[in-house]
Amino acid sequence: MDERNKLIEIKNLKTYFPVKRTVIDAVTKKPQKYVKAVDDVSFNIYENEILGLVGESGCGKSTLSKTILRLNDSVEGTVIFNGQNITNLNNREMKPFRKDMQMVFQDPYSSLDPRVTVGDMLKTELLYHNICPKEEIEDKASFILSEVGMDKEALKRYPSEFSGGQRQRIAIARALAVNPKFIIADEPVSALDVSIQAQILNLLKVLQKGHNLTILFITHNLSVVRYISDRICVMYLGKIVEIGQKDDVFEKRLHPYTDILFRSEPDLDPRRREEKALIEGNPPSPIDIPSGCRFNPRCPFASERCKNEEPQLEDVGNGHLVACFNYRDKSI
Ligand code: ADP
Ligand code: MG
Repeated sequence: MDERNKLIEIKNLKTYFPVKRTVIDAVTKKPQKYVKAVDDVSFNIYENEILGLVGESGCGKSTLSKTILRLNDSVEGTVIFNGQNITNLNNREMKPFRKDMQMVFQDPYSSLDPRVTVGDMLKTELLYHNICPKEEIEDKASFILSEVGMDKEALKRYPSEFSGGQRQRIAIARALAVNPKFIIADEPVSALDVSIQAQILNLLKVLQKGHNLTILFITHNLSVVRYISDRICVMYLGKIVEIGQKDDVFEKRLHPYTDILFRSEPDLDPRRREEKALIEGNPPSPIDIPSGCRFNPRCPFASERCKNEEPQLEDVGNGHLVACFNYRDKSI
């Protein structure tokens, strides 16, 4: 059993989007199909950790994060935040949780309202969530900006006056302003120049420590996830296939998908680059998910059982879970 406090417990979460039916579908009475973006996912996020969520584009990372924040409805399953089941709360009941759970998006150009100054944006957040008395709001906004490495001069300016990296700092300031417990950062550095990425990652690390934050960090960039995470969760076609401490997951790569995905990470050493196998084929559609293990059509180790039976996550020690009948420890 893990002794740490669970901030978030996700149990059997499913988010399905109905596929638009054509006239022909209706006439031929074809059954309604669904994009199974999140398909029976269970895991915990512990207090004060940075959990990295990785997987190919389209595997359901953003959908999962929005469902945790109740920005999507789940068709099934439970989200427990700080001991409270928030799955069925209405908007009014969600308000205190909205404060505690913040989000930083990939694109700092579209996530900030171009018509509002940075100061007004921060003050609106502070007022809405009653963070401090009115007379302290100006000071509080300046202080938050200083925490993300920006001068208070920025308060008077509009988002368009800043670079991408500065805008992402402002987006982080907005999330931080309301004293959240939990932040989901969805590909927060993917749109930034490589030279700026490290600065933003370091800033998130510093803020995580200083504010005892819990962060779910979503990325498809393996070097980034390796740098920032305490634990790593690997997602494939709507499901978690492996989760564990960063070093365990990177070194053991128990699930064949994790192994192939991580081996495709560009190696800085050109001599080793050739050995790296890139993952073959495209992931199947989340509308028609293969039976059995959903990775079986792309898996080099697939057996008959894998085609018929769906493997569940099993603990192999040290809180390292893998969903595979034929997993192999690549560190030995
Ligand atoms: P990721 O963030 O891992 O790239 P997403 O969560 O954005 O993946 O998408 C997972 C799957 O769900 C994709 O097939 C995507 O097309 C689909 N999807 C996401 N949002 C919606 C939506 N609002 N309506 C219908 N399908 C969606
Ligand atoms: Mg996404």
